[in-house]
Amino acid sequence: MRIRVARNSGFCFGVKRAVSCAEELALKNKDNHKKIFTYGPLIHNETVVKELEKKGVICLERLEEAPPGSCVIIRSHGVAPRVYDEGRKLGLELFDATCPFVKKIHDRVKEESDRGRTLIIVGDENHPEVRGIKGFCRGEVFVVNNKEELEELFKRGMVKSDDEYSVVAQTTIKTNVFHEVVEFMKLNGLRLQEFNTICGATEERQKSCEEISVCSDMMLIIGSRISSNTLKLFEIAKKNCKKTFLIETISDLPLNEIEKCGTIGIAAGASAPECIIKEVIATMSEFITENGQEQNEMSAYLDEIDKATRLPGRGEIVTGEVISVSEKEIVVNVGCKKDGIIPKDEVSLEADQKLTDLFKVGDQIEAKVVKTKDDDGNILLSKKKLEVNEHWNEVNAAMEEKETIEAKITAKVKGGVIATFKEVSGFIPLSQLSDKFTEEVDEFLGKTVTVKVIQTNPKRNRAVFSHRAVLMEEKAKKIEAFWNSINVDDIVDGVVKRFTDYGAFVDIGGVDGLLHISEISWGKIKKPQDVLELEQPIKVKILSMNREKGKISLGLKQTVPEPWDNIESKYQIGDIIEGKVVQLKEYGAFIEIEPGLDGLVHISEIAYKRVASPANELEIGQIVNAKILDIDTEKKRISLSIKETLEKPVAEEAADEE
Ligand code: SF4
Repeated sequence: MRIRVARNSGFCFGVKRAVSCAEELALKNKDNHKKIFTYGPLIHNETVVKELEKKGVICLERLEEAPPGSCVIIRSHGVAPRVYDEGRKLGLELFDATCPFVKKIHDRVKEESDRGRTLIIVGDENHPEVRGIKGFCRGEVFVVNNKEELEELFKRGMVKSDDEYSVVAQTTIKTNVFHEVVEFMKLNGLRLQEFNTICGATEERQKSCEEISVCSDMMLIIGSRISSNTLKLFEIAKKNCKKTFLIETISDLPLNEIEKCGTIGIAAGASAPECIIKEVIATMSEFITENGQEQNEMSAYLDEIDKATRLPGRGEIVTGEVISVSEKEIVVNVGCKKDGIIPKDEVSLEADQKLTDLFKVGDQIEAKVVKTKDDDGNILLSKKKLEVNEHWNEVNAAMEEKETIEAKITAKVKGGVIATFKEVSGFIPLSQLSDKFTEEVDEFLGKTVTVKVIQTNPKRNRAVFSHRAVLMEEKAKKIEAFWNSINVDDIVDGVVKRFTDYGAFVDIGGVDGLLHISEISWGKIKKPQDVLELEQPIKVKILSMNREKGKISLGLKQTVPEPWDNIESKYQIGDIIEGKVVQLKEYGAFIEIEPGLDGLVHISEIAYKRVASPANELEIGQIVNAKILDIDTEKKRISLSIKETLEKPVAEEAADEE
């Protein structure tokens, strides 16, 4: 024989919350013998109500029955606002255990009726939850149990097409009933806005019950005869499985039928406590064992229930199934007697992300226990804190492996900045922010930089990052690659970076090389600035390199031909050239024909008249014309004559003729 148990059997989130609230209040007030009251039975289960009574939790039908000053719990169904007023007037201390899902309906109907819309509540008018919801409607409201009831109102002209309607549902009704009502309204041209407020846990429970009932020979629905959601489960199961039994107490168990069944399905209503489910399973187990059958599955289920009674400890990592998601929180069934709540703040979201975009009912989710009991008695979970652990692991791993991570600079602090990697914040000291000295950090704010992790202390939530280390490493790699790529005699691109008396430093790709003054020009220059300027891009030749010392000698003049190399193709004897006087000596003047190519005008070749000193006729920098008299390529000498370019005086000519 096989036993299948429907998912989400037993106490739902809202019921667990209300029962925990009662148990805790009873425990707190145990010593002062103060009675705790509940306004109506806390749940639709007599056994649980009796158990609570033994612990000092008394059920009242009317608030007036409670002595002034006593604690009264509002159960998960919620109540109308007037009940709160009444309680206050009677001097009672009210503890609101209204299920958050029901509270959401209260807010919704209040908002909708404030907008002037007529409310339609699909549910049972006599159910306390519906009475409570109705109390929050400030305008006209109709309660219908099904499509037929609405049809009746429509026929009688009470629901008419002139009005605008907002439709909500009792949390425990069947989904198809709600859809039928909405469908009817749409078909009849009624203007409406629908809000499917059926509780996700209820829907899930009904779905799971339906699935199991289809393939079971017998269905056992555990719960109370007055519990609306238990009756719905019964109805659903009965449709698919003729042998469906409602089990309120163990005496309802049809033991004589069990033997004849191959598969038995079990589902339990939201108000069925674990102890009853456990008792049913145990009794069946006993019966089957006595009848010689296997009991493994039942033992396994009992184990599950045992597990469920234990609460996870603070810091424990739990896995569970999402049972509801709203914009404010995620409710997770973590497999124990209380559900876990992950508030929105405890999930890492991007600026425009919503919880409902990222999570859905049925998702498996992992989170860390922050508190075993929050203010509402739930287990407070955090996904962020779990992620923080993972993020710290990533940070530590990055430090160990000497790897880099991306961190966003978020704030300026004394001595540096704060940069965040996911949920981990680290400090970057000023000295580690750049490869250059910087005190101006504003330009870094908001930027994402690559950092190395220098130090971590997860316990104290501290880490130290360095962006400089990354920059230096990149630089070193670049330099390494550069040295591997260059050779003596290569012509490379460079940029003039700095001048000295003896030359200029040129950046040739991350490394500075020295361009000595003597290697700048084939001609004579007094200082590098005569021919170069800062940031000027130039091509230079690598003359020598020493990788160990990191020194490179560069030449600029070597990138153009040496003037004497092709002198014969450029200048011939008899050519008249234009040049600049660059040096005056007693025996003549040196004329620069082009950089690195000077010619000598002998004193006798300066003028036709007698010249006592070249300085009497010429000055430095003067541009003159001169005739090439001789080119001696071996000695690298050029003889020039200025006078040959001048007109010969008449007396001189006559003398020449004679
Ligand atoms: S059935 Fe849903 S809405 Fe109702 S109390 Fe339980 S969790 Fe809350």
